[in-house]
Amino acid sequence: QWIFLNGEFVTKENAKVSVYDHGFLYGDGVFEGIRVYSGNVFRLQEHIDRLYNSAKSILLTIPYTKEELTDLIVQSVQKNQFQDAYIRVVVSRGVGDLGLDPYKCQNPQVVIIVEPLAIFPKHLYETGIEVVTVATRRNRPDVLSPKVKSLNYLNNVLVRIEAHLANVSEALMLNDQGYVAEGSADNVFIVKNGVLYTPPGYVGALEGITREAIIDMARELGYVVKEEPFTRHDVYTADEVFLTGTAAEVIAVVKVDGRTIGEGVPGVHTKRLLEAFRQKVVAEGVK
Ligand code: PLP
Repeated sequence: QWIFLNGEFVTKENAKVSVYDHGFLYGDGVFEGIRVYSGNVFRLQEHIDRLYNSAKSILLTIPYTKEELTDLIVQSVQKNQFQDAYIRVVVSRGVGDLGLDPYKCQNPQVVIIVEPLAIFPKHLYETGIEVVTVATRRNRPDVLSPKVKSLNYLNNVLVRIEAHLANVSEALMLNDQGYVAEGSADNVFIVKNGVLYTPPGYVGALEGITREAIIDMARELGYVVKEEPFTRHDVYTADEVFLTGTAAEVIAVVKVDGRTIGEGVPGVHTKRLLEAFRQKVVAEGVK
């Protein structure tokens, strides 16, 4: 397995970063998670754009043009020869001293890791998953925007810990006003009377690329999709609930805080959207 690090491809064993890297010391950096389906990188342009926007927001200069980085990502996939894979692109502030000062970090570090796919167990797509809502809140959009996919994932980690303590595999975060924001690494949709609802960006969620793909695809299929804030009550009383994300794709949620959603099995709309999404991902992509 070849990993791109410090301007070259190295083996996994040799892929090491400094303990003085501010990504490690302060979570100072940004990242992306991207999927490869049948050798095609799914929505690479969108991931590149989001990465550069995240970096711009935190005044981090990525030392490659978008075209160069796109090329490096495609090269990483080809070099590793995986047909179905997960790509992690990390850009950290780079090596500095122990102080917080990012201006002492002269060389942002770019890392590209391509791994064979470790998808969620197949049976979970058939049964759906149970989630809880947790005490951890999404950070306010006016502080550090949730649109920035930064290396500061502590609240997402805490969400996972709270999910684990509740014996479920994922959980939903609310924003500071109590509106449902998103999962630890996925966006949330509810379906009511055949209409799809997902929280708008200003509620405080990452603008998921899978979320966008699902919105477009659902509209093409004739669904009405509304980006509107909603509360836990709306989730509990929805006909269907599902999560979307690069790793999760589309996964049904069948129980929320002990309330059974619909019939307690993945609903027809969720199943239809997952099927359409799986067809779409192989039909699309950059070779
Ligand atoms: N929300 C958060 C916090 C995430 O980290 C992710 C994963 O990237 C998502 C949502 C889903 O976004 P995407 O569909 O772009 O993977």
